Amino acid sequence: MPTRSPSPNVARSAIQAWTAETLLAPLRERCARPGTRLRQTSLGMFHHGSDRCELPHFVLRGTRGQDAPVRLGLFAAIHGDEPEGAAALRDFLLALDDDPAPAQGYEIHAYPVCNPGGLARGTRHSPAGCDLNREFWRGSAQPEVRLLERELAIRRFDGLVSLHGDDTADGAYAFVRGATLTEALAKPALAAAARFLPLATGATIDGFPARESLILRCYEGILCPPAELRPMPFEIIFETPQTLPAPLQSAAAVAALHAILSAYRPFIAYGQDL
Ligand SMILES: [Zn+2]
Repeated sequence: MPTRSPSPNVARSAIQAWTAETLLAPLRERCARPGTRLRQTSLGMFHHGSDRCELPHFVLRGTRGQDAPVRLGLFAAIHGDEPEGAAALRDFLLALDDDPAPAQGYEIHAYPVCNPGGLARGTRHSPAGCDLNREFWRGSAQPEVRLLERELAIRRFDGLVSLHGDDTADGAYAFVRGATLTEALAKPALAAAARFLPLATGATIDGFPARESLILRCYEGILCPPAELRPMPFEIIFETPQTLPAPLQSAAAVAALHAILSAYRPFIAYGQDL
């Protein structure tokens, strides 16, 4: 999620082949199959100039536990030059559809392409020239931000995970915010990611003080739940090093998401006491 990219409106040639259509095609095919737990919808359509954009939304409901399902919001590619996160959400949902046991008790809402115009161009910023991840809850007029803010307000997620890539990092790391248990979820997520990637080291990562690859502060205006939401959801912003192969980054993010489902499960029984 760093801001240091020298030319956020300039596409990096290596990722120009990615589009939402090619990235999400396997998910859309799966949604059409009989017996799938996956459902696809859209937060809405909007235009950037003559370009028509759609913000896709996928839902996977695990088998019900004894209580109301835990609602998770998973977000990726709000920076259009970070398609690895979108690929990770696609692969995660397909894996859960193949084997839904880890999703039991969860209702998973995934938004794999939060900046569809930027993804199509391979640019960090939206076609309007905005870093969308600095615009939340600040009265933004950007259509992507307004659609996502409305969704965040309606869904009242119990937990949020945002996937990002960092082309300046030497390893994976995470920002943790929100509920106090967030750190207890982020640690096993990083441990799972470490099966595929090195973890970022050092006392400073992305300009923030860090400890054990975790950062407790964050930028202002990032995609996050409404400030007044109680109980506070957990919030993890998971970053992978973009200098390493994209399949490894996606595999690490999928492993991290599985670890979060597993690590949160013991807390579910306590429900609203968290
Ligand atoms: Zn990012």
